[in-house]
Amino acid sequence: MITSKTKKIGILGWPLGHSLSPLMHNAAFTALNLDYVYVPLPVQPENLAQAVAGLKAMDFTGANVTIPHKVAIMSYLDEIDLSAQLVGAVNTILIKEGKCIGYNTDAQGFIQSLTRNNVTIMDKKAVIMGAGGAARAVASGLIQNGIQQITIGTRNPLKAQEFTCLFPNFKNLLGCNWRDSTFTNQVKECDILINSTPIGMSANEKEELPILWENVNKDAAICDLIYNPPMTAFLNAAQIRGYRTINGAGMLVEQGALAFELWTDKQAPRTIMSKIVLKYM
Ligand code: NAP
Repeated sequence: MITSKTKKIGILGWPLGHSLSPLMHNAAFTALNLDYVYVPLPVQPENLAQAVAGLKAMDFTGANVTIPHKVAIMSYLDEIDLSAQLVGAVNTILIKEGKCIGYNTDAQGFIQSLTRNNVTIMDKKAVIMGAGGAARAVASGLIQNGIQQITIGTRNPLKAQEFTCLFPNFKNLLGCNWRDSTFTNQVKECDILINSTPIGMSANEKEELPILWENVNKDAAICDLIYNPPMTAFLNAAQIRGYRTINGAGMLVEQGALAFELWTDKQAPRTIMSKIVLKYM
């Protein structure tokens, strides 16, 4: 039963229709018998500052932050944890002693999903397609875990070049047009190939990623951050050629589990969270 003592967690985003997080977190709270509730809070970009003040005023315990607020929200928080400083974006807020503290669990969520699939990161080479918010989290996680080199391939080479400035201390970050020979050469050598664009979601189902499979290193792990559908055309093409494939469901569950642990100080019930994601995606 929800009462005035129930601890409140929200998710701030715009629009919010597609989010599985309320189902996943409410199932986790119920499983551990915790008096918490997780509610969707659709917030338009121009109202973000008031929304953060509202979380404090209404005594929320925390929140998740999703598209398009992950970077903009940083200006309205009291503290930014190192996890979010390293990525340059916040996906989780903890409200403690009246202060809003911003964290990032996406980066570690992605890394955990690789680790659970026995993918080695240390001294390996990765290629990421896309240069948006999720690519930032992925690159940050890989850098923190000892990747040797990252190549960012995009449809718009300017965005790839801008991306390389985000991690000035990491020298082996290349940005290129994904139609160029540099990209093809990097794909040949890479150990981890990641789709961080929406190509493969239903709205983009007619588009294709620029991968010539005969050029892809046979031992590469092939990852798609998309979790709905669980098997994108990209992963399907990889799987039929015998590659190891990893979809975005593991990252979704792990980033959620790490946020849950910040809010509750309890170990997250990952198996239950994972079952909910698989059931509803
Ligand atoms: P974003 O910030 O909007 O960035 C999207 C990137 O993809 C940009 O580089 C964009 O390039 C590129 N892109 C978009 N549409 C494209 C198209 N039709 N053709 C080629 N490139 C295109 O989004 P995001 O937050 O990074 O999310 C990227 C993907 O990751 C989404 O599918 C999202 O669902 C998924 N994701 C999954 C998780 C998880 O937990 N599994 C977490 C976060 C995100 P331009 O700049 O040229 O538009």
